[in-house]
Amino acid sequence: MITFYPGPSKVYHEVGQYLQEAVESGIISANHRSAGFMQMLEHAITGLKTKLNVPDEYEVYFVSSATECWEIIAENLISEGSLHIYNGAFGEKWMEYTQKLTGSARSFEFQTNETPVLNADIQVSANDVICVTHNETSNGTALSSAFLSTLRANFDNIIAVDATSSMAGVMLPWQSADVWYGSVQKCFGLPAGMGVMIVSPKAVERALAIGNRSHYNSLLFIRDNFLKFQTPYTPNTLGIYLMDRVMDQVAPIEHIAQETRERAQDWYSFLPQNCYALLVENESVRSETVVAVQDSKERIAAIKKAAFQEGIVLGNGYGKDKETSFRIANFPAITKNEIKTLKEFLLSFTSK
Ligand SMILES: *Cc1c(COP(=O)(O)O)cnc(C)c1O
Repeated sequence: MITFYPGPSKVYHEVGQYLQEAVESGIISANHRSAGFMQMLEHAITGLKTKLNVPDEYEVYFVSSATECWEIIAENLISEGSLHIYNGAFGEKWMEYTQKLTGSARSFEFQTNETPVLNADIQVSANDVICVTHNETSNGTALSSAFLSTLRANFDNIIAVDATSSMAGVMLPWQSADVWYGSVQKCFGLPAGMGVMIVSPKAVERALAIGNRSHYNSLLFIRDNFLKFQTPYTPNTLGIYLMDRVMDQVAPIEHIAQETRERAQDWYSFLPQNCYALLVENESVRSETVVAVQDSKERIAAIKKAAFQEGIVLGNGYGKDKETSFRIANFPAITKNEIKTLKEFLLSFTSK
């Protein structure tokens, strides 16, 4: 089977070998306060920061998932309220989740084919956290770096970004936000089970000012441990090991991003040329890592079924477009040959 599911998604081919080596090396049986573990964690963080071009002054923590980051942000960075700017299911879930914890989450929704307009409707007070979804996995849209930089220039607030399905696949404008997070089972090409949280000095300062230390996953408690290259609880050692190995293996993000962009452009011309309608009409808001195709419920079901019979897994639609779309992950671990196979299938299906 080859998979184009946008998470969990295809892992890098080399992961099989790394798994074997993880067992043989003994590291995954080692105590997580041992020197061997701490060196590995330090190396994994350094590798990630180098390959993804993360500014030196930003800190990297491994947590359990992107979903956990919603909770960490709500409990440690939101003291008054939060404004959630979104156009799809993941942004909405983040808002709903935060609302349950804080009771002070507000929404600013925009349409699939729009870039959000920062006008007078956006009311934020100084301590509000602004929450945006960089890549809305549910509908295949993304926010541009220009938008994020305008947001940064216009507001002094802490800005938190869900980059779960774009981190490690595209270049992210780190300085335009204070918290970036994602999960490893998307563009990182790793097995599910870990989240990555990247925080600016300004976010650390806010967490210190709020001073919440009452949860096992309090940001400050996580940070205290990570500053010593330890973790608050027994971590996903295998996940950290695989992260370390994959960060050694991958090209610097500018190369990966270039390939992601070229492949995305290719999908966005191939699909409409062959009678597949794109879910996102406005070119400037299309995601480079998740490509969504729309059609009738019946045709979507038929395409997915026929693909499956050919050994190809397409991503189901998600949220309101669940039954009337399918999604194609354009993640770095997917090979040229796999893309070729999917294109051949799509060509043969359309000519039937
Ligand atoms: C996948 C995804 C999540 C959830 O990730 P988990 O690892 O399941 O917590 C959150 N936000 C976005 C945008 C996603 O694509």
